[in-house]
Amino acid sequence: MEEKIAYPWAAAVLARLPAKAQDMPGALLLGGQAGLGKRATALFLARAILCETARDELGACGVCPSCLLLAAGTHPDLRQVELATEEDPEAEADEPATAKKPSKQISVERIRMLGEFVTTTAHRGRAKVILIAPAEALHPSASNALLKMLEEPPGNTRFLLVSHQPERLLATVRSRCILVPFSLPAPGAALEWLKGQGATLPELSLAQGGYAPLAAADIAQDEEYWTQRKPLLEMLSRPGFNPILAAEKAEPIEGPVVARLLARWAYDLAVVKAGGTVRYHLDFKPSLEKLALGMSGTRLMAWYDQVIQYGRVSQHPLNKRLAMEQLLAGYPGSN
Ligand SMILES: [Zn+2]
Repeated sequence: MEEKIAYPWAAAVLARLPAKAQDMPGALLLGGQAGLGKRATALFLARAILCETARDELGACGVCPSCLLLAAGTHPDLRQVELATEEDPEAEADEPATAKKPSKQISVERIRMLGEFVTTTAHRGRAKVILIAPAEALHPSASNALLKMLEEPPGNTRFLLVSHQPERLLATVRSRCILVPFSLPAPGAALEWLKGQGATLPELSLAQGGYAPLAAADIAQDEEYWTQRKPLLEMLSRPGFNPILAAEKAEPIEGPVVARLLARWAYDLAVVKAGGTVRYHLDFKPSLEKLALGMSGTRLMAWYDQVIQYGRVSQHPLNKRLAMEQLLAGYPGSN
């Protein structure tokens, strides 16, 4: 069964690439915000490159030996370099024995391990593919090791790099890759896809996912997210806002999630204050409009800055409760 890319917006991105997989450049960098299907698209490209059936358009036949090996996850000419998780015994070997949490970086050893793969001939006699995701997680020395491989492109090895923040990659690595940019699809198209997935509250989920359809699909079925979000936003909406009580609601929410919730709350307030319409917290539109009216614009922007700054350290809060109390004390709805 011939494979087509599952995401309509990704098809538009692929349309800008060579129609024949064998004409694909040696290194592609799929870049753009999270939730747009970049990794799935990279895997689609890997399957197309390794497929053994001749074809005039991008895709894989699904029935040749390569396609079957890929489906079984045992293709010898594909290497996926991703963040190590606890379930990944091969990757664990690189981590200190004490490390229990998933690693936040791709170590230089992981890249060096590719050295042999890169220099040997493809098992199936076609190409070899190395997929690295997320590429911004490469440790600086891993980036340098990768750069050496990219500088002396080994015969018929294709590199597929996936990055949510391509600007964070080593400039020299970036310049060796052809950038394949992913941008947000039109809301109508995203909504149509989301409805097709059976997502509950598709409009609100799409807005909460920052208009990235896959992020929205995840959020739509994340019960904890909805349960934690509502009481916090209700507090922010009410007169007589109390930062201590709000911090209590905010504390259990994961740092980056609460940072994003608050940043979007501030964004919505700022936009409404400037005469625009609510973009993210659609279900709190009347509250946001009422709040913005009575809020000092200067204080709002100062708080917005504070929220953005918290977002930068939200992965490693030293004292989450205290950080939340401080952050919420500056909320301009507090009087
Ligand atoms: Zn095939």
